Amino acid sequence: MVLIIGLNTIAKAQFQAKIDSILNLMTLEEKAGQLSIFTNDLNERGDFIQDQYITLITKGAVGGIFNAHGAEYTRRLQKIAVEKSRLGIPLLFAFDVIHGHHTIFPVPIAEAASWDLKAIEKSARVAASEAAATGLHWVFAPMCDVSRDPRWGRVMEGAGEDTYLASAVASARVKGLQSTGFQDADAVAACVKHFAAYGAPQAGREYHTVDMSEITLRETYLPPYKSAIDAGALTVMSAFNEVNGVPATANHFLLNDILREEWKFDGVVVSDYTSVLELINHGIASDTSGAAFAGFVNGTDIDMQSSFYNHALPALVSKGVISETRLDEAVAKVLELKFKLGLFEDPYKFCSKEREKRVLLSPQNLSESQNMAKKSLVLLKNDGVLPLNSSKQKLALIGPLAKSRQDMIGGWYAAGNGEIAESLYDALIQNKNVKELMYAVGCETTASDTSHFQEAYETALQADQIILALGEAAWMTGEATSRSSIDLPGVQNQLFSRLLKTGKPITVVLFNGRPLTINEIDHYANAVLEAWFPGTKAGSAIASVLFGDENPSGKLPMTFPKSVGQIPIHYNMKNTGRPWDGVTNTTSRYTDIDNKPLYPFGYGLSYSTFDYSSIILDRDSFKAGETLKAAIKVKNSSSRDGEEVVQLYIRDLVGSVTRPVKELKGFKKVLIPAGKEIMIEFTIDENLLKFYNTKHGYASESGTFELMIGTSSEKFQTCFFNFTK
Ligand code: BGC
Repeated sequence: MVLIIGLNTIAKAQFQAKIDSILNLMTLEEKAGQLSIFTNDLNERGDFIQDQYITLITKGAVGGIFNAHGAEYTRRLQKIAVEKSRLGIPLLFAFDVIHGHHTIFPVPIAEAASWDLKAIEKSARVAASEAAATGLHWVFAPMCDVSRDPRWGRVMEGAGEDTYLASAVASARVKGLQSTGFQDADAVAACVKHFAAYGAPQAGREYHTVDMSEITLRETYLPPYKSAIDAGALTVMSAFNEVNGVPATANHFLLNDILREEWKFDGVVVSDYTSVLELINHGIASDTSGAAFAGFVNGTDIDMQSSFYNHALPALVSKGVISETRLDEAVAKVLELKFKLGLFEDPYKFCSKEREKRVLLSPQNLSESQNMAKKSLVLLKNDGVLPLNSSKQKLALIGPLAKSRQDMIGGWYAAGNGEIAESLYDALIQNKNVKELMYAVGCETTASDTSHFQEAYETALQADQIILALGEAAWMTGEATSRSSIDLPGVQNQLFSRLLKTGKPITVVLFNGRPLTINEIDHYANAVLEAWFPGTKAGSAIASVLFGDENPSGKLPMTFPKSVGQIPIHYNMKNTGRPWDGVTNTTSRYTDIDNKPLYPFGYGLSYSTFDYSSIILDRDSFKAGETLKAAIKVKNSSSRDGEEVVQLYIRDLVGSVTRPVKELKGFKKVLIPAGKEIMIEFTIDENLLKFYNTKHGYASESGTFELMIGTSSEKFQTCFFNFTK
């Protein structure tokens, strides 16, 4: 029997009767099947479909397939589900579309460095439209994990260390992915991951234990997930890690008490890859049945890849261990998602070859990617060598990442093709400002071979300027890429030292997915440009900043430490009872290094210079229900138009629990014409002053607050105000 239900999608009530009628027809095995998703057979473009998939789909033992994409391939898989399975329930096709699908955008931490929410939303929109054009309905994004530990490789996929910025970015991404709804076929369902606190593993080691106070969990780590859910995200992914002794995949407190009860999330929760199976390794279940039980009753609706729900749920329900009502609730949510996506109306709605051809890698998409890349570059140091002089330059381009195309698209690049990405070399060789481009590799990214140093040195000697492309290989960040050292890998520091001996000006262009410890480079290079992994249009975006066609405007979303020993390091630390005063030994400090980072959160230079006036408050104090206006004049005192990210921080001087030395509570990215001064205004209300107090309530407290507005978390104007409840 084939159930193609002619129904236009939107409100839940509209689907309820249909969902109930499907549930009535389903066996327990078919219900468990809807709650099981599997990865594709890595033959993504689909020359053939493995027998095991045909069998699974025909049996109705799978609700969705991930890592399968392509309009034609997904159509073929869908056809099996619709025509060969007993109930003809369409499949969901999912994929990790993290920063673009075919057109690759900068890695997420780089996009966050733009502090440009509109651009971030646009990037997600382009990714969604390309994903949808290849038959996908569901993307495993956005990642909303706050992280304060650059040893953890997945900081690349997030929005950095700050809760406020990460929350704003999470919301923008969901809006971009889901667009205004699913009436059209170019919106995909978002999946908020990895719920929760996956970004805080002990020692920065992937998948490791998370143990933190409830205050920290609620105040620092949970808000970005909540923000994504408030923006309408339809699904959530439970994380691999444990949180305070209970694996997130079976964590009732997280998945039920917080997510469903407090936040009223009524969508689907999917496990992470085999995280139901991993409940056995965590030691909270001893077998398939126990793990399926623990995951399911505690709130994980869909089992990704373990196949434990398929194997165990029917028996658990038959024996009365799990109620069929709970099973039906979960299946209903999956069916509802399929209704919302319009799949019952037209299961092939996303499978159009014509659209696929038109949308993928379109000139507009490539140009959006290039724009985003320009915005995400962060100028970390500049002694005046940049922008490179427009009178023709003889450049020596050196370094292991100078000619790499594949690395430009970073990790988790979905269906991106590194071969078509622009390397820095590709861009400079065509650049009209470059009189002569010489190239030498110098060394490999991670190897210890120094035999090419001499050639690099000699090449550099013939040039006016050196552009040195250093950093991590793309595979060094992303899942399962924790590092115990965040120095430049291999012999890259030695290569830098060797090139310094030429006496030529050196601009270092850094490619990396995490903050690195680059003290020597900061000290001796003439300029340092943080490029992250900028995506398909990497080369031309970087060249436009090097030559000044583009004025850099990115700001760091994550602190760069001086030493790995300072980690976790973030701008919003607590003061302690013995704050470091610069002289007293018995204060909170190290004996071998100071407490300051190399580059603070919110930091980034421009070719323009911005002068901040004093802050003007419209009053000294305000009460709950009222607002306070803080204004500041920012002058572009240079001869170049430039964009500045004006940042607002607040410190609660006395609270019933200790408060951080400052917290980001607002920002505005503004274009300020050369020589012009503009007034920036922020509105402060009670909500911005709330925090979790000892009773675990989210509330404000009366008192005096310090207000800071400036160009980074370390450079700002300051004033004080009082607040009364
Ligand atoms: C990752 C998820 C991803 C999933 C499916 C897991 O290993 O942690 O972020 O969505 O695989 O590819």
